[in-house]
Amino acid sequence: MLAYFFASWIRWDRGMGFPNQAIIIDLPSRKGYFFGLQIWPDEIYFITILLILAALGLFIFTTLFGRLWCGYTCPHTVFTDIFIKIETFFQGDRNERITLDNSCLDKKKFIKKSLTYISWLIVAFFFAFAWVAYFYDAMDLAKDFYSLSISFSGILWLLSLTFTTYVFAGVFREKVCIYMCPYGRFQSAMIEKSTTVVTYNHLRGEPRGKVSEVVGDCIDCYKCFLVCPMGIDIRDGLQMECIGCGLCVDTCDEVMEKIKRPKGLIAYSSEDAVKSSSIDQPTLKKISSPKSIFYFLVFCVVFGLAVFSLINKQELSIIVIKERAPLFTLTPAGTIRNAYTLKLQNKSLSQKEYLLSIDGLDSYKFKVQGFQQSSGREFIISLAPELETELKIFIEANNSSFHEQKIEFTLKDTSSHKLYNETSVFIFN
Ligand code: SF4
Ligand code: SF4
Repeated sequence: MLAYFFASWIRWDRGMGFPNQAIIIDLPSRKGYFFGLQIWPDEIYFITILLILAALGLFIFTTLFGRLWCGYTCPHTVFTDIFIKIETFFQGDRNERITLDNSCLDKKKFIKKSLTYISWLIVAFFFAFAWVAYFYDAMDLAKDFYSLSISFSGILWLLSLTFTTYVFAGVFREKVCIYMCPYGRFQSAMIEKSTTVVTYNHLRGEPRGKVSEVVGDCIDCYKCFLVCPMGIDIRDGLQMECIGCGLCVDTCDEVMEKIKRPKGLIAYSSEDAVKSSSIDQPTLKKISSPKSIFYFLVFCVVFGLAVFSLINKQELSIIVIKERAPLFTLTPAGTIRNAYTLKLQNKSLSQKEYLLSIDGLDSYKFKVQGFQQSSGREFIISLAPELETELKIFIEANNSSFHEQKIEFTLKDTSSHKLYNETSVFIFN
């Protein structure tokens, strides 16, 4: 939560004219900034790779430790938790809340309910504000909000996110997990008998009965059921609805402590561990399962691809468009002239200088409209940070018996000596 709420306030100097927020998706310029990294619209595959990595990470953790994501890190669970804490603070525990709900509306009930709903609204608004700050610049958003000069789209997003957070975390709660989130549906495909999940030790607990009777350890107090935010009885076995929050574990441990029996009747354990009467199996043993190894290998391959793409991320984008009308021109000197449009985009945050040259023709000369030739057959092209430009290029070559010849446009970064190439064709006849 701290990272979510405060990361948008971290500043990052990119120079004049660029967002100085470390993490921001700048919609007007259609670019994403993450500290020193920029993501352009044509590099959206980085986001795809990131999502694939996140999904694979989720698969690995689910195979090893069950629904850790749901119980501890899913934003919906965390916000629902915060909302329940607020509700408990103003209205008391579950039983007190049920009594309050069933009572007639009086001044006390009105105040308790109003304070709860107002607090929910404030938390929901902060969530919405933090989200919009990743698209608007947190400082500007705060200033514009204070001076009531926030844009219409900003207001719309703030209101809709406040509303959805309030409704999802305050009203829908576990219904979002059961009816809207697809994750619970396919968790059964990932969970194995050795996976750590919240498990009721039926060998120890059954048959259930009163504490005075000589039966299993479960005294059928229903506390684990009453405390469950998903409304399930874990004693019926692992169910799709269980988000692994562990509230039933803590509650049952308290009960066991009171009746002086060993804790762990409900515990983070596994089916295999219960059968072998141990608490849980070592993580190392679980990691060696074929499913975990498969997920881990796929994760490593995708991660390697991501790192490779990041290292080889192009700072210059080149597109060459061959003029088609006319395809070629015969000059009075008897040479053949072809025209091209060269689209360049400096994707870096610094001024760049490139040497433009052409390869593939034996005898030729070329000019770039509006530029002076620097030396030999090269042109110096200067590009301001993030500048996108179009150059008109004319190449003249002696006539040939060939119909066409492949040519290559090369731009050499004068500071890093990195080469950027793009191919096209020269048409003779
Ligand atoms: S809290 Fe423990 S003792 Fe009580 S019903 Fe649940 S499993 Fe049985
Ligand atoms: S069964 Fe236990 S771990 Fe699962 S959701 Fe309910 S309280 Fe949480």
